[in-house]
Amino acid sequence: MLLFEERRAVTQYAQQLLSSGLVQGTSGNISVANANKTLVAITPSGVAYEDMVPEDVVVVGMQGMHIDGRLLPSSELKFHLALIKQRPDIFAVVHTHSENATAMACLRWELPPIHYLIGYAGMTVPLAPYATFGSQALTDGICQTIGDGNAVLLANHGMVAVGPTLKSAFNTAQMVEYVARLYLLTKSVGDPVLLSPEEMKAVLEKFPTYGAQPTRDQS
Ligand SMILES: [Zn+2]
Repeated sequence: MLLFEERRAVTQYAQQLLSSGLVQGTSGNISVANANKTLVAITPSGVAYEDMVPEDVVVVGMQGMHIDGRLLPSSELKFHLALIKQRPDIFAVVHTHSENATAMACLRWELPPIHYLIGYAGMTVPLAPYATFGSQALTDGICQTIGDGNAVLLANHGMVAVGPTLKSAFNTAQMVEYVARLYLLTKSVGDPVLLSPEEMKAVLEKFPTYGAQPTRDQS
């Protein structure tokens, strides 16, 4: 099967998104490019993640051309491809409507550095402007907002995390959701103290690829 390893990984991480509570039903979608970025494997539109098998994962070319798979690709294919094309270090994209990150996005608040684990995503998690799902305007807003970070909140919609591997993009999505929950929790009783730019710089130096594989010093 074309891109079998990538399609199997997409299936596994799609099921982990469900079991970790980052997505409900068929919301959210994930993709990963092959090593030379000529093809992308992406979750199909409207298939329950618990029933998904590698054959269901759709393979497309970098311009969105359908290459393999009997289903339609995710309706958010545009921004997945645009992000993978935009930066050489992005091979994987995870998009969720996870509750706390999405609540932040509905308030149209960026996520500030209240906890050092935001370092998986960068100094902060910025907010992309609202645009209709699946639209070119949404893609443009995300690509203009992400900078060199690894995550973006989407106004009144959800969150996108990226990385050099599906594992790192998935971990970043989990960390953004965790820090968003902490933020909302602290805001419910007061104002959290933010880490300074210097303190965040020290964290990012320990996360040499901006949190891509920060396996050390996480306690
Ligand atoms: Zn969405």
